Amino acid sequence: MTGFSLRLNEDQLQLQKWVHDFAEDVIRPAAAEWDQREETPWPILEQAAEIGLYSWEFLAEIMMNDPTGLSSPVALEELFWGDAGIGMAIMASGLAAAGIAAAGTSEQVMEWVPQCYGGPGDVKLGAFAASEPDAGSDVSAYRTRAVYDEAKDEWVLNGTKTWISNGGIADIHVVVAVVDPKLGSKGQASFIVPPNTAGLSMGQKFSKHGIRASHTAEVVLDDVRIPGHCLLGGKEKLDEKLAAVREGKHIHSQAAMQTFESTRPAVAAQAIGVARAAYEYSLEYAKERHAFGRPIIMNQSIAFMLADMATEIDAVRLLTHRAAWLGRHNGFKNAEGSMAKLKAGRVAVWATERAMQILGGYGFVSDYPVERWHRDAKIYDIFEGTEQIQQLVISRAISGMRIE
Ligand SMILES: Cc1cc2nc3c(=O)[nH]c(=O)nc-3n(C[C@H](O)[C@H](O)[C@H](O)COP(=O)(O)OP(=O)(O)OC[C@H]3O[C@@H](n4cnc5c(N)ncnc54)[C@H](O)[C@@H]3O)c2cc1C
Repeated sequence: MTGFSLRLNEDQLQLQKWVHDFAEDVIRPAAAEWDQREETPWPILEQAAEIGLYSWEFLAEIMMNDPTGLSSPVALEELFWGDAGIGMAIMASGLAAAGIAAAGTSEQVMEWVPQCYGGPGDVKLGAFAASEPDAGSDVSAYRTRAVYDEAKDEWVLNGTKTWISNGGIADIHVVVAVVDPKLGSKGQASFIVPPNTAGLSMGQKFSKHGIRASHTAEVVLDDVRIPGHCLLGGKEKLDEKLAAVREGKHIHSQAAMQTFESTRPAVAAQAIGVARAAYEYSLEYAKERHAFGRPIIMNQSIAFMLADMATEIDAVRLLTHRAAWLGRHNGFKNAEGSMAKLKAGRVAVWATERAMQILGGYGFVSDYPVERWHRDAKIYDIFEGTEQIQQLVISRAISGMRIE
């Protein structure tokens, strides 16, 4: 085990620069256009695929092949510093890949994860479909059903998923469904819906407040038949788990929660990227913009806002790097991943709002990027576990009590 250190190794410094250069040269100049178009930025995904940034190998590199855990937050901060909407368009397939990795066998990971990405000239998408119209935070309330047809060795899925990134346009959908409604969240399993499967369609596509370059839509599952081997983890393991739950044994794994838990420090790093973009931009602006015959930064009220922004961003980066390191070493004690995600969402919303204040009228118009960053920041209080759900997780961890 490596000790916790803030020092990035040579590989991580190169990774940071590589992602930063792509964010600066390719993503930033395209950000306003794709925000307005509210469409998946296919040309950017293609460019990212060409350099290997949109690929399962990149995901494996930052999520798995790093003994420190820091490569992921370092890379994601840079990517989302470029733009959170395009960043999410690039990373959403990773949610599907993480869902497969969390619940699948190694054969299933090898078969399906590459299909979430495709390759240059043939870019593919993955989607992770857990949330439903009547069940977001409350994962025990999912209603999408999976019923096993033993005669055909097929699973039949029915239900509606909502708020799904890449939903309905993905090649691979990872769907969380109920196999035994009596068992709540412990009666669920994750399934692969392969490309072009009959019965899966896109419902409403949402028009959003922020991260608009990332496609978000409903996924309708109407008698979707998938082969038995599309059950992640396999039937034997599922039957064993269900039997254990029915006998009242304590089972830790909840299909959806596993995925969310492993991704929280990574999501925090995305929010930090947005906050840092706004901080850097407003710092430069404050040095150049003159009012009453001097740069506005010469007023303490402006300079102190920037001092607070720098401090808060550094503080949450420390929380996030600690959480990423603990995550890599199975060391979570007080829900440190949730702490990082909670604080990062708040800092991103607050820092982007302060940046708007520093820009004055220019902060409020779409000719300047700060209002977009502010719109983008809010998602970090909502998805991958809302602000209140993070507080719930933390309060249970610190108290050891079942806080409701
Ligand atoms: C842009 C976007 C992309 C998304 N991408 C995906 C995706 O790819 N896949 C996917 O499966 N989902 C996705 N989601 C869904 C997202 O994870 C949910 O929106 C989120 O979990 C919240 O669920 P909800 O919207 O149903 O809110 P609810 O769960 O209904 O919560 C509403 C409010 O009540 C609060 N609340 C709920 N329960 C409690 C409690 N016990 N204590 C205190 N407060 C509580 C919440 O904090 C919130 O403020 C996405 C959402 C958005 C907006």
